[in-house]
Amino acid sequence: MIVMKFGGTSTEDAAAMRNVLRIVQAHHSHQPALVISAIARATNELEQISRSAALGRKDQALELLASLRRRHEKIVAETIVDRERKADLHAVLSDYCDGIAGHCIRLASVGSLTAKAMDAICSFGERMSSRVVAAILEENGIGTAWVDAADFMATDDNFGRARPLLPEVGEKLERIMTDCVSRGLVPVTQGFIGVTAEGDYTTMGRESSDYSATLIGSLLGAEKVQIWTDVDGILSGDPRTLKGVRKVRRMSFDEALHLSAFGAKVLHPTTMLPLIQKGIPLEILNSKRDGVAGTLLGATSLPARSLVKSIAHKRSVQVVRMRRGTSRNGWGWEGISNLFAEHGLNVLCSTFTLNEASLLTDKQQMGDELLAAARSLGEVTVEDEKSSVTLVGDGVGRSGAILSRLTALCAGEGISMIAGSAAASLTIVIDSARLTPVLQSLHREWIEAADDPEIFEPVS
Ligand code: ADP
Ligand code: ASP
Ligand code: MG
Repeated sequence: MIVMKFGGTSTEDAAAMRNVLRIVQAHHSHQPALVISAIARATNELEQISRSAALGRKDQALELLASLRRRHEKIVAETIVDRERKADLHAVLSDYCDGIAGHCIRLASVGSLTAKAMDAICSFGERMSSRVVAAILEENGIGTAWVDAADFMATDDNFGRARPLLPEVGEKLERIMTDCVSRGLVPVTQGFIGVTAEGDYTTMGRESSDYSATLIGSLLGAEKVQIWTDVDGILSGDPRTLKGVRKVRRMSFDEALHLSAFGAKVLHPTTMLPLIQKGIPLEILNSKRDGVAGTLLGATSLPARSLVKSIAHKRSVQVVRMRRGTSRNGWGWEGISNLFAEHGLNVLCSTFTLNEASLLTDKQQMGDELLAAARSLGEVTVEDEKSSVTLVGDGVGRSGAILSRLTALCAGEGISMIAGSAAASLTIVIDSARLTPVLQSLHREWIEAADDPEIFEPVS
């Protein structure tokens, strides 16, 4: 069997849904299980609806909800002809929207928003889109079973970033899958969402449908997982920022992990984890160009020749600099990393010397408590308005040649930090104002000039 995940842009309108149908038809003989994201922008809108309601702007929340509902209904009107199926689907969508409206009314009267309430509301995005996908497949003769993630994706109650409870998820999934296979049905379920032991919907973090798909694929021992999105695969850089990007034919899980952790939105950073141990391959494919080969991710990549395969970036990061004080207690890589982890700050990479430490983190205000704790170790300064640029490729983080060329190319760009994280990446932090020209110049140097046909393919 295979797992196929369709992201928001792959389900955003009737035309996109027809592509999904065609793709599933083409892969039907491989026994697909489908993992669906909310339609494009729906989760943002559901978050907005929650916030508006909690601020007492109930009418605004309900207006946004009506517009989200219209987007789903337009897709239904343009794809479903069968009267009974259409009526059933309308009833389900109505029910869901009433559910969201009920939450809004409660939030407006309470006047505050909890992560639990936000998850309850956001869970409707994936439930709506997956219902529509299942109905479209049925309409076109593909027997489907719509599976509520709440029937198997048991999680803890860490709302907003819940973690799955693994043996339980595996057992439940296995039973559902055996049942679908014996009835010859394609299961259609939701990414992103799960459920607590008390029956409350949870979410596993923004963009985490990728992770839902690989987790499901791993637990079911799928032959491969496919992530269908709106680009041809993993590209040599973010096409929204860079010109002349190439498609990367193959990448290792480790390289992809670095790429996503350092900002490439194409995959959620946890996506690779469930597949690594079992060595299940992952394909990234374009749902709008389904004949085109995508990027294949596996345990190993093509020749490890210290080649830069892609360049990731993150805007709005900050560099926290620490200089050791007179007290020796707590100073050291482990002590400082633990301190940041305990306060929930994700350290992307760091450099340490005997007396100095620099840590790259996503831009979050260092809370007073963390600042005070860090200051007990020494002098602390925080630089923001920074952006990170990360060269990714097996061996790149340990290549002296790449490091010296990078430093030369970026001389005069106000470099705040350079750090190699393990072998697969090398990160430089610069002023945000210089981000685009620096990205383009590094792309020219390492991708366009190299243009190795074994690794890259042009994007048409
Ligand atoms: P989906 O809705 O399918 O999950 P996302 O928007 O989350 O899609 O991810 C796909 C987007 O990731 C692309 O449209 C592209 O703009 C962006 N992206 C950023 N970096 C890369 C990269 N290196 N390769 C491919 N896409 C990238
Ligand atoms: N719909 C969710 C989000 O937008 C999950 C996902 O798309 O992966 O974050
Ligand atoms: Mg995504």
